[in-house]
Amino acid sequence: MSNAKDLLISWFGSPEKEGFFAKLFPSYEYRKQQLEMALAVAEALDNQEHLIVEAGTGVGKTLAYLAPIVASGKKAVISTATKTLQDQLVRKDIPLLLNAVAANHFRDKNSVCILKGRVNHLCKRKLGRFEEEILKGRLVNLFGMYENYKAFGQFMKVFKNWIKGTSTGEISELVAELANKRLVSFSPDTLNIEERLGHVLGASTDQCAGPRCAFFNSCFVVNARKRASSAKLVVVNHYLLCTDLMGKVSGSFEIVPSADVLVIDEAHHFADAISHAFTISYHSSYLEKLAEELGFATGRKGKIWEEYTRIEENISNHHKALLDLLDQSLASKSGDLSGMLLKDRRSSLQQVFHDEKDICNFQNVVKAIAENYRVIRLLLDEGSEEHLSPIAMTDECHRVLNQIATNSSLDSFIWFEIGDQNFALHLTPLNAATYATEPLFESYSSIIFTSATIAVANSNGDHNFDFFIEHVGVDPSTRSLAIGSPYSYEEQMICFIPPAHFPMPDEPDFIDAVLQHAVPIIKAFPGGTLFLCTSYRNMKVIADNLRRELPDRRILVQGENSRSHILEEFRVDTGSILVATGTFWEGIDVPGESLQVLLIDKLPFPSPSDPLVEGRCQYIAKSGRDPFLDYYMPRMILALRQGIGRLIRSSRDRGVVGIFDVRIRRKGYGRKILANLPPCRIIENFDDLANFVLT
Ligand code: SF4
Repeated sequence: MSNAKDLLISWFGSPEKEGFFAKLFPSYEYRKQQLEMALAVAEALDNQEHLIVEAGTGVGKTLAYLAPIVASGKKAVISTATKTLQDQLVRKDIPLLLNAVAANHFRDKNSVCILKGRVNHLCKRKLGRFEEEILKGRLVNLFGMYENYKAFGQFMKVFKNWIKGTSTGEISELVAELANKRLVSFSPDTLNIEERLGHVLGASTDQCAGPRCAFFNSCFVVNARKRASSAKLVVVNHYLLCTDLMGKVSGSFEIVPSADVLVIDEAHHFADAISHAFTISYHSSYLEKLAEELGFATGRKGKIWEEYTRIEENISNHHKALLDLLDQSLASKSGDLSGMLLKDRRSSLQQVFHDEKDICNFQNVVKAIAENYRVIRLLLDEGSEEHLSPIAMTDECHRVLNQIATNSSLDSFIWFEIGDQNFALHLTPLNAATYATEPLFESYSSIIFTSATIAVANSNGDHNFDFFIEHVGVDPSTRSLAIGSPYSYEEQMICFIPPAHFPMPDEPDFIDAVLQHAVPIIKAFPGGTLFLCTSYRNMKVIADNLRRELPDRRILVQGENSRSHILEEFRVDTGSILVATGTFWEGIDVPGESLQVLLIDKLPFPSPSDPLVEGRCQYIAKSGRDPFLDYYMPRMILALRQGIGRLIRSSRDRGVVGIFDVRIRRKGYGRKILANLPPCRIIENFDDLANFVLT
C-alpha cells in the first residue's frame, strides 16, 4: 500500500508539493478530498475489500477511483448509470489519464473496452432484411424519422458509409454521423432516433439466432464481448451489469467478463437498476415482432403463416379482453365511464382489482394468451434457422405470461403500463437486492460504490448509509466513507426558504405564491436560472407564467427540444431560464454565470401512485417499518441533494437556491431536511438575498 500511496500522492500532489496532474492538466486543482478518496480506494483494492464512498460535488470522484485502479494494474469493470456517461469515460476521462501516466498495463489499444446492451449494436442478420425492405420501398414509414424519400435517401448515404467503416456496429456512431450532417430531427412525441434505429436494426436477444446465425463469427455483439474479455478496463452501464447478474443468478448466461475490481459509479441508481433487470415483462408489441420474424421465415405464405394469422387474431382479441377488464374495474370503482381511464396509465394490479373474481378473470385471460403462444410454438421447426428466433420468442412469451398468471408470491407484485397502441404487464420482485447481489460479491474481490448522494444525515448531521445498504443488499459491515465537497458553501451559496406562513404545496394559491417570489429572485441575478419542478403540470404552469412575466428573458422548457440541445442553449445564453422536471434533476453540469439561481417548487417525494414505489412501501410495511421514514424521506432527501448539487460546480461559482416548500419549516421532519442541505446560510427574506448579491 505504501508504494501505491506514494505513487498516488505524486500524481495528485499535496498541500506542500505540486503533483504530476497539475503539470499535465491546465485546469487541475489539488483537492485534499480527492486524494482522500483515491487513497481509500487504493486501500480497498490492496486489502481486497469493498468500499462505499460518498464524494460530495467537486471532489472529482472519477479520477479518484480511476487513478488507483490504473496504478494497481488490476482488471476492472466500471459501471455507470447511463450510456452517455459510459461514452464520456471511454472517450474522455480514461484516455486522458492513461496518456498522462503512460501506464504499462494499459499500453495495448484494446486494453479499454465499452460494453453496451445488445440493441445498441447493429444485427447483421437484420441488415439483410433491411435491404429487402428498402427494395420494397417500405422503410420511410418503418423508421418514422423521415417525411419523404429525399430525406431518407440522404440518411441511406450516411448509413452505407457507416456500414463500410464501422468496426463496432454501435448505433450511437451512426447517430453521431447523422447529427454531424444535420439529418437528425427532434420531435418530443417520438422515440429518440437511437432507440428507433435500435428497435429496427438492433441485435435484440429475442430476435437473435445465436451460434447458428450465418453471421455469428463476425457479429458485432459477439466481437464486443470477446474484446471485453481480454480488456483491462471494461466500461458497462448498470442495466447491463444487472442483466448480467440476472443471467448469473438463473445460470442462463453471462455478459460481463470477470475482473478483480468493480466500480459502481452513480451508485444511487443501482437499486432501481437491479429491480428493473429482475422484472419480467410481457409487451403486447411482441406480437408485431413475432409477425415480423415469422413473416420473414415463411415469406408470408403457406400453412404456418395461415395458422399463425388465425392465432394472432385470437391473441389480439385476448389483449382487448384484458384491457376491457382493467377498464371496467376502474370505471366501476370511480363511476367514470368515459373509457379514458386507461389512457397512459401505469398502475399496480392491486390498485385496479379488489375482488377475487376480477383477479381470477385476469389470470384466465393471461393464461389464454400464454396458451396461444404455446400453440404457435408447436407449428415451428427447430431444425430451421429462420424458425429459431420465433421459437425463442414464443417460448419466452409463454413462460413470462404463465409466471404472471400463476404468481402467488408475496415477495413480488404485478403492474401494468398502457401506452397509445400497446400495453405491458410486469412482475417485479419486491426485494431483488437480497438475492441478486450475492454473485456480485462473489465475483469481484473489491467493489467500490460511489456517488455524490448515497448517505442521509440525521437531524444532528451524522451520516448514515443504511438506506443504500439495505436497498443494494450490501453487507452492513462494509466500510463506508462520506467525503465532503471542497466548495465553501457558506460563502458561495445562500438558500431561500419562504417563511412559515407561505402556502403549503397542496393549497390552491401555492403556485401563485411561488411565482410571486420566484420572479424577483430571478431578476436579482444577471445569470441563468434552473427551475426544477416536481411534475409536468407545475413545469408547464410555471414556464407559461415566466414567459409572461419575463418577456425579455429566454425561457427554455423541457420537451420543447432534445435534452442536449436545451442544455447547450442554456449554457450559451447566460441569462436564460430553464424550466424542467424528472431527469433534469441530475447530471447537469453548468458552471459559471449560466447557472446562478436554482429554484425548486416542492420537495421531490416519490409519487405514491408509482407502482414501483407502492410495491416497495408494501414490502417495508410488511416488515413492520414505517414507509414514510424508511422510504419516502431518504429517497426525497437524496433527490433534493442531487437537485441542489446542480448549482455550485466550481470554486468560483456563487448563487442562490430557493426551495418553495414550507413543509421544511412547518413539519417535524424539516430539521432532518435542513441537516442534509449543504452548509450554507438559510434566509427567508429578500433583504438578506440583496445583501448576498451585493457582497
Ligand atoms: S448472432 Fe444474433 S445478433 Fe449477431 S448477427 Fe446473428 S442474429 Fe444478429
